[in-house]
Amino acid sequence: MSDPLILSGKDVSQSVYENLKDRISVLKSKNITPGLAVVLVGDDPASQVYIRSKTKKFNQLGLNTESHRLSIDTSEKDLLNLIDQLNQDNQFHGILVQLPLPGHINTQKVLDAMDPRKDVDGFHPENAGLLSIGKPRFIPCTPKGIMRILSHYNIDLTGKHVVVVGRSNIVGRPISILTSLKQAGANGTTTLCHSGTSNIPGFTRSADIVIVALGVPQFLTGEMLKDGAVVIDVGINRIDADTEKGYRLVGDAHWESISSIISAATPVPGGVGPMTIAMLVENTVEAAEQLVDW
Ligand code: NAP
Repeated sequence: MSDPLILSGKDVSQSVYENLKDRISVLKSKNITPGLAVVLVGDDPASQVYIRSKTKKFNQLGLNTESHRLSIDTSEKDLLNLIDQLNQDNQFHGILVQLPLPGHINTQKVLDAMDPRKDVDGFHPENAGLLSIGKPRFIPCTPKGIMRILSHYNIDLTGKHVVVVGRSNIVGRPISILTSLKQAGANGTTTLCHSGTSNIPGFTRSADIVIVALGVPQFLTGEMLKDGAVVIDVGINRIDADTEKGYRLVGDAHWESISSIISAATPVPGGVGPMTIAMLVENTVEAAEQLVDW
């Protein structure tokens, strides 16, 4: 088989930013600058890197962003008070609480406390419910980015078997819903696999599209795929390597073994990752548009 098509989230994200420029200009002409408040509890290095990338992109686009970095021992009550304050602060149209939160804080309670109209991550139960009935308000950024990559490269899911591996509320479950919705570009037949699935290769081998989001480095190998399958690799994993940093990033798919079998795949890095940030910006712009009394 010829070299697979590289589904470049980096390229698609650039077109997303280009398209957003006009929408941002319209908002600014009405004296509205879309704003995002980011809350980080603790000093997890990966979360800090992620927040820096988000902040940089918001600044580049002339958007408003503010980070609240709270110490690891912040109480649940103090965090809920901050959320309440941000819910009422009109300069922020979106609020993002970086997950995971420390164990002494009830994550669901924090997500529930957020104004669902500012929940640009789409994790509030109201937004999760709207998505599951096919009437989404905010779609979680990573699955939304995956759907955008598929539509950008004209990969229509109608009549296709989609296998998702991983059922987290931030990636696996929402992408399983999105891919199976009865709407243009979706309409796939989706199987959701997880740690309780007894024979994952038995499912992936019949898949036209495999979406791996489990966080196990290089889990998906060529022998688990049929010829011409499309692979969306969500995983971002560090493995030891003889590099300056002492590690390299790999996905949940084993590129060397899948590349001669598949027809197309997202790379790691440069695939799903850049789209997650682009969709966060898009959701924040949408939140600003929705809150405006046109
Ligand atoms: P998560 O919350 O840890 O969920 C992992 C899911 O995979 C769970 O449903 C788990 O099953 C399942 N799983 C774990 N090991 C398995 C195995 N051996 N076989 C079958 N299923 C297995 O992870 P997540 O937050 O969804 O993230 C998944 C990966 O995507 C991570 O590498 C993360 O860094 C990456 N990620 C990337 C982006 C991006 O922007 N590119 C965004 C988010 C996440 P159970 O439910 O049974 O426990």
